[in-house]
Amino acid sequence: MVTPFEFATASRIVFGRGVFAQLGAMAKEFGLHALIVSGRSAERSERAKRALEQDGVASTSLHVAAEPTTEDARRGVEQARNAHCDLVVAIGGGSALDLGKAVAALLTNPGEPLDYLEVVGKGRKLERSAAPCIAVPTTAGTGSEVTRNAVLDVPDRGVKVSLRSHLMLPRVALIDPELTLSVPPAVTASTGFDALSQVIEPYICNRANPLTDALCVDAIGRSARALRRAYEIGSDVAAREDLCLVSLIGGMVLANAKLGAVHGFAGPLGGMYRGPHGAICAALLPHVMRVNLRAIRERAPESEVLARFQRIAHLLTGRHDAEPEDGIAFIDDLARTISLQPLRAFGVVRADFAAICDKAAVASSMQGNPIALTSRELHEIIEAAL
Ligand code: NAD
Repeated sequence: MVTPFEFATASRIVFGRGVFAQLGAMAKEFGLHALIVSGRSAERSERAKRALEQDGVASTSLHVAAEPTTEDARRGVEQARNAHCDLVVAIGGGSALDLGKAVAALLTNPGEPLDYLEVVGKGRKLERSAAPCIAVPTTAGTGSEVTRNAVLDVPDRGVKVSLRSHLMLPRVALIDPELTLSVPPAVTASTGFDALSQVIEPYICNRANPLTDALCVDAIGRSARALRRAYEIGSDVAAREDLCLVSLIGGMVLANAKLGAVHGFAGPLGGMYRGPHGAICAALLPHVMRVNLRAIRERAPESEVLARFQRIAHLLTGRHDAEPEDGIAFIDDLARTISLQPLRAFGVVRADFAAICDKAAVASSMQGNPIALTSRELHEIIEAAL
């Protein structure tokens, strides 16, 4: 019997080299004045502005310097209302896409970001569809162009949590791999590892379904080949294209299955320290897999998740005799080859372990982990990732 499931994604996904040229025509279908939300780069927002102008769509620009906060979202809504924006074009990494999605949601729903945030907010449900949002990723990592959430930093609570609703799914995900050619090696490494974590965790989580499984299997094999190549030769457009697909698939599967302990820890760690999200995921992934594998063998030896660990090993190594441990060793080795750092590089210290583990235990991603981990196991993971 198939466990009942739901699968929702962006209304329209347009993927391929050069598709950015369609931005203006797409925007025109939704409105007359766009809020362009982008990262630090003025060049990316200028390109979007020119593309919109060609099709008669006016625009106002909003830049986000780092991962977005609740205050960024509040100010963005104010700016969009003052300029009478009727659509949002979010172009950039996950930070810009998430801010754009949050602003689009709050433009049509009354109140403050904290009213709707999960875990530390009031968790109120959005009632109206977000304003139309066209999401244009320029990193290959988060898959935020097709997810139903926006991650916001809540600085005074030291945590990053999500604003989440199917009403926030972008109307268009416009993915042009050529936009990622300029991503420098360190960002390719960290964002690429986020994408890899996001196709592995949903494959072994407790809410996988036949659609997410099929997508994960394609993406895990693809990521193993593409990440190292894109890191070493940034101009390899075929590798960039593969990574963009992995990222897109990661977004589709995380939004329709669940994640797990890697992202359960990444939320609190991202709120407490300043490390890039993908680098934090990379430091955790092999250790989470090792502890999960042992816990499942000990406490749920009949679980079909064990076969999934083996499949991951086959897909990553390309060897049919590969054991689950070989898959984990592959990930460890990949992280080292592309110069990703352990958690101590981001200032994580043992004195914070208890607080980190307490927050991770209640994080929404942790609820998807294939087995409930004990407090001791959580401490073991963070110690190994240090
Ligand atoms: P990011 O958006 O912070 O970008 C990383 C850096 O890359 C920035 O300095 C940015 O300016 C730069 N950059 C972006 N595109 C570039 C390009 N084409 N060339 C050169 N530089 C470029 O990082 P990210 O990893 O893409 O996103 C991280 C955020 O996304 C975090 O807040 C994380 O929590 C969130 N996230 C959201 C979801 C979701 O489903 N909504 C999923 C995973 C992660």
